[in-house]
Order: sequence, then structure tokens, then C-alpha cells
Amino acid sequence: MAEMDTDDKGYTITYDPLKGKCLVATKHFKVDDLIFEEEPFVSCQFSWNSLYGYRACNHCLCPLETTSENIVRLTNAAITEVPFEEYCPIKDKTHNYVQCESCKVWYCSSTCLETAYNRYHQLLCRPDSNDPLHYLEELWRTMHYPPESHNIMLLCRLLATIELSASPQQANQTVSNFCHRTENENEHLAHKMLGEKFVEQIEQLRFGVLKSMPVRESSQWLTPTGFKSLLALVGTNGQGVGTSVFHQWANNCKKHLSPDQMELFEQFIDSAYDAMEQVVGVDFLDNEGSALFQNHSSINHSCFPNAASVFDGNHVLRLVAIRMIEPGDEINISYIAPCELDHSRHTRQKYLQENYVFTCRCIKCEEQINDPDITSDDDSEMEEDST
Ligand SMILES: [Zn+2]
Ligand SMILES: [Zn+2]
Ligand SMILES: [Zn+2]
Repeated sequence: MAEMDTDDKGYTITYDPLKGKCLVATKHFKVDDLIFEEEPFVSCQFSWNSLYGYRACNHCLCPLETTSENIVRLTNAAITEVPFEEYCPIKDKTHNYVQCESCKVWYCSSTCLETAYNRYHQLLCRPDSNDPLHYLEELWRTMHYPPESHNIMLLCRLLATIELSASPQQANQTVSNFCHRTENENEHLAHKMLGEKFVEQIEQLRFGVLKSMPVRESSQWLTPTGFKSLLALVGTNGQGVGTSVFHQWANNCKKHLSPDQMELFEQFIDSAYDAMEQVVGVDFLDNEGSALFQNHSSINHSCFPNAASVFDGNHVLRLVAIRMIEPGDEINISYIAPCELDHSRHTRQKYLQENYVFTCRCIKCEEQINDPDITSDDDSEMEEDST
């Protein structure tokens, strides 16, 4: 089939009858080269993270708490002093913070406040704590315990973005481009997200959304079938956005500290991790929220990826080469966490089939095609994660 989109930026999106959309390099990239940078179509902090007091910009997800505030909170004040505070990435930015005058949510800057208001917030601004939208979020939390990987509020923002778009038809088309599953696959993925009671839960969530916001231009997504495909879309295309102030501070320290200081730094990190593990669990540290990216969603998985998505303090995604890429090569990322790529072929394939409904035919899977279908002890954790 013909190419869907061409540009001279070093990549192009093509269409493969078997794999669907593919991102293909049109120039040479070496390790660490930036392939592209992309703002999300929509992003949102996780509900549990905001409930637990993670302060992040309500639009771009950048952290609004300093490294000290973050560590004091995550260790329940077991640690109150943080060394090398001069490397905290946000210490000079706090005077830019602004609040929505009506519902009091925080933004890192007036630019984020205005962008959010114009794109979706004017439909989702709810100062009244008894508003149905708040009940919907609570309902979601009762269905989806941390670590959270998806979010009903992302879905509401998506619908509000369509409602407020200058061209709702085009916005609906953009959302449709994220969905390329059959009805059966959508059903499977929605089930996967919501678990055993899913039929009941989907209807509760759907009514919750209908009760909470105006649905005119986006009504195609609020039919029973449309809503399932919307859930499947968020489940398969939602990208975790990590913006931890702690990680940014630690990276800055590693770049700047002398060997002597590094020793002190490493001791501090060990004790901070121990203290956080006891209070919140380290799983909680990484992902601030999730987002949908148009270019990024066209990248296929490989168990031997040549690119990776990284975030640098907010929701802007950077796709970076992690191996040499030549013109004509398909650019792949891993949908599996890096530490889990070493699991057996059987376990990887099972995970991808259950969570993304496809059979991986990457070079690594092809090489291991004759491996026995075993699940090693190491793999059991991953399978639990995925259920
Ligand atoms: Zn912001
Ligand atoms: Zn507001
Ligand atoms: Zn594979």
C-alpha cells in the first residue's frame, strides 16, 4: 500500500498489510540520536498518584514539588534532609506556578493553564466536590488499584478535546487512527483492563462519563461498542509518562558530582530507596501518568528494539536510537519493560498476545522459534503483572 505520510525529518510512516502502520527510518541514526520529539494528543496524571499527593502540572505533568518535598513525602518524613539540593531541576521555577481560579488545580505556568483550558479543561473544570466527574474518578479507583497503567480521566480529556476541537470531524478521525482492532479484540482488551466483572464495570464507567460531561461531537465513542474500542485504544496506545523529580535530580547529580561526593550521593540513594520501599513501594516512583502520541503509536514492538521513548521532566516524548539505524530499517521500541526482555520467548509472546493482541515475529523471536515453551521462575512475576 502507499505511504501514509512522508517528510524529510529522517522517518516516514508506511503501511504493512500484516503489521499495520510502521515507522521506517529515511536516514542514518547512531546510538543516542534523537529521532523525534512529540507532544501528546492528550495526557493525564494517574488518579492514584494525584490522590496520594504527587504534585504535578495538571497539563504537562512536570513535577511541582522539589526533590526534598518529594522525598519527605515518599518516605513519610523518615528522611527530611536531601544533599546536593542545588541539582533539583525545579527549585527556581516555583514562582511560575498558577492555579485554575475556579477548581484550584495547579499548572507549572500560565502557558499550560491556557493550553489546558482551551483544549479540554473548560469542559472538565469542576470546583464542586460532589460533581459526577469526581464520582467517576472514584469509581475508577475502586476498579483499578495501583500501579495504574490506564486512566479514565485521560479518556474524558480525549472526549473533551474532540468536543472543543475547531474540527471535531478531524479530531474523531485522529482518534479513529489510534484504533485498529476488531470488535473481538476490543472486547478482549477491555476485559483485560477491567478484569472479571468487566461487562458491568464498562457500563458503569460509560454511564459515569455520560453523566459527567457534554457528549455531542464525540458521541460515536459513547455507544457500548464505541466505548469498548475507546478503552482498548487507551489500553494499547497509552504510554506511561515518567516525570519523577527524584530521578531528574539523581541524573543531574551523576553528571556533576565529584567522585567523593558520588560516594555520599550513593549512600543517600540507598537509604532513600529503602525508606520509600517501606512507605509507598518503589513501583510508585516512576510513572506520573499516561498519554497518547500520534507518531509514537505507529511504532511496532520488537524484543530486540533499536529505539526507546524517554521523557525529560514533562509529557513531551523523545524517541532516541539505542542501536545503529540505517535508512530503510523499521524503527521499533519494546512494549515490554527492558528488564523483562530477557524472559523466555514463550513468556514474552504470551504477554504481548494478552495485552496487545499480536504475535511477535521480531528477529529475536524468530531466532528462538525452536525454544521450548517454558515459563521460568523468573517469568512468573511478569505473568502476574499482566493479569
Ligand atoms: Zn505545565
Ligand atoms: Zn478548573
Ligand atoms: Zn519478539
